[in-house]
Amino acid sequence: MQPIPNISIVLPLFNEVENLQALYDALVPVVESLHSNYEIIFVDDGSRDGSFDVVKQLHQQNNKVRGLSFSRNYGHQTALMAGLQHSIGEVVITMDADLQHPPALLPVLYDEWKKGFDIVNTRRLEVEGVSWFKKWTSKKYYQLLNFLSDIPIEPASADFRLMSRKAVNAFIELPERDRFTRGLVRWMGFQQTFVDYKAHARFAGQSKYSLLKMLRFGLDGIVSFSSRPLRLSFYVGLIVFLLGCIYTIFAIIQFFKGDTVQGWASILVSVLIIGGVTLLSLGIIGEYIARIFHEVKQRPLYFIKEEVGVSNQKDQS
Ligand code: UDP
Ligand code: MG
Repeated sequence: MQPIPNISIVLPLFNEVENLQALYDALVPVVESLHSNYEIIFVDDGSRDGSFDVVKQLHQQNNKVRGLSFSRNYGHQTALMAGLQHSIGEVVITMDADLQHPPALLPVLYDEWKKGFDIVNTRRLEVEGVSWFKKWTSKKYYQLLNFLSDIPIEPASADFRLMSRKAVNAFIELPERDRFTRGLVRWMGFQQTFVDYKAHARFAGQSKYSLLKMLRFGLDGIVSFSSRPLRLSFYVGLIVFLLGCIYTIFAIIQFFKGDTVQGWASILVSVLIIGGVTLLSLGIIGEYIARIFHEVKQRPLYFIKEEVGVSNQKDQS
């Protein structure tokens, strides 16, 4: 039985074959400088480019490298959860596998943990090599999210953070399916702090968050942290209803005046607005119901196809 590692590094990855060796080479000296007893957990989220073969090679070289391979692509947030569930270190650090999160920051995070923080979050100051569209949509999204949500969620926060064993144990007790990790972590409480860093451009390859995945992720953030959209749709419905009442009075007066032939434009406009508001509200309700549906099915979060170096440890999948 190996001693419990002091540090676990959790790295979700999806088709990152060109990045893994460089990531490993950059990461290991930094982690070793912090503590000789560590584990590096790669969670392969259904890659189709042979990423897991590289993970297996790295495990051959260094048995502190561990790997899980999902049966298909479940998404970054689920891969994070799997990595945290399989980690056994006293301190767990999650980061991206594309070298956008600089390993050089790890000693800073570790120092904050030593000061007594359970969760050390990070905040991007600048991002190299990211389109203005992504930066702009991200900024506007966090404004909207913070307007709607009851708990503050820091803009420019990625899933690059350190958590103590206590915080990780709490996090993996949260059973929800549509996971918005940065919100859940804020929601958990504990002693939290922030560290700023400059994000680099991706080492190789393209972003694995397609527009559709980003949209879904964004919706998860809003719907799982706020019921305010439901209330807003009620208010919009109320306003349209009141306007409708006023217009009804106007229409009755016109009727008694015998002046009822005109009105093509007003009928069209009211049909379109009422139709639009109804569909929008149904859509909002639908989003919540879909998530309730996901939850009640109680399916496991993921299935593991293959693993290296973790089978002798606890298995919670
Ligand atoms: N990722 C994943 N599953 C996915 C999409 C992304 O595990 O379905 C991983 C990806 O390999 C990377 C991290 O999540 O390690 C962040 O993704 P990416 O760098 O593509 O996002 P961006 O930095 O562009 O927001
Ligand atoms: Mg990235």
